[in-house]
Amino acid sequence: MTNRRKMIAGNWKMNGTHKLVATMVNTLAENTTDQADIVLFPPYVYLSDMIHQAKNTSIAVGAQNCAVHLQGAYTGEVSATMLEEMGCRYVIVGHSERRALYGETNELVAQKVAAVMSCQLTPVLCIGETAAQREAGETMTVLQDQLAVVLNRSEGTTILSKMVIAYEPVWAIGTGKTATPELAQETHSQIRQFLAQYSPVIAEQVILLYGGSVKADNAAALSSMPDIDGFLVGGASLDPTQFLLICQAAIKGR
Ligand code: PEP
Repeated sequence: MTNRRKMIAGNWKMNGTHKLVATMVNTLAENTTDQADIVLFPPYVYLSDMIHQAKNTSIAVGAQNCAVHLQGAYTGEVSATMLEEMGCRYVIVGHSERRALYGETNELVAQKVAAVMSCQLTPVLCIGETAAQREAGETMTVLQDQLAVVLNRSEGTTILSKMVIAYEPVWAIGTGKTATPELAQETHSQIRQFLAQYSPVIAEQVILLYGGSVKADNAAALSSMPDIDGFLVGGASLDPTQFLLICQAAIKGR
């Protein structure tokens, strides 16, 4: 029996309004307790408002990305140092949209993880294979490569002990095609086995989220799986009622 704490994370991507910030925080604060870690990732411009609204609740706030550098002449970028100063606790790193649309490589992602950790923030590292990679039987090679670049450094086990990993098959993100609970469990278990090469003890403690078209009606079955510790939710995290139902299903599951 595992004692890993559940986490439910909502990635708003480039969506949301100040009104939604208030509605979402109020809905979650009124209907959840601190039985799980609930983290919201709005766009940068709403972070300050959300941190303010979530004060005195158990809801944490994070950013969807950050710069690889901590300061300097990088127009348009936002650093982990700034996110820490404003009260963020988490940063998503390596989301598949950033890998695919903005050319983020495994090496850049690893550098961003290091930047995030140098600021006492928790990275939520996203990994996942495309449909073609899964069909070609390359899933674990892809996932292992994405993880190894982050972990194959002298401080690898410290990084592992402090980060959250989100397994998000690219073919399931925003497509309505969720991985079956069995397929997600099998992949999570293989990821945990790979992590055990760095430290069997830490591998058992790492929070492994599933992401990819999680909705209120599939959250319960997914969260009953032994290696699924919660969710990274995109589209459904923009609807307070649906996101609350996902949080409740995740808390109840397993
Ligand atoms: C995501 O953006 O991380 C995600 C999983 O999106 P969706 O839930 O919409 O598939």
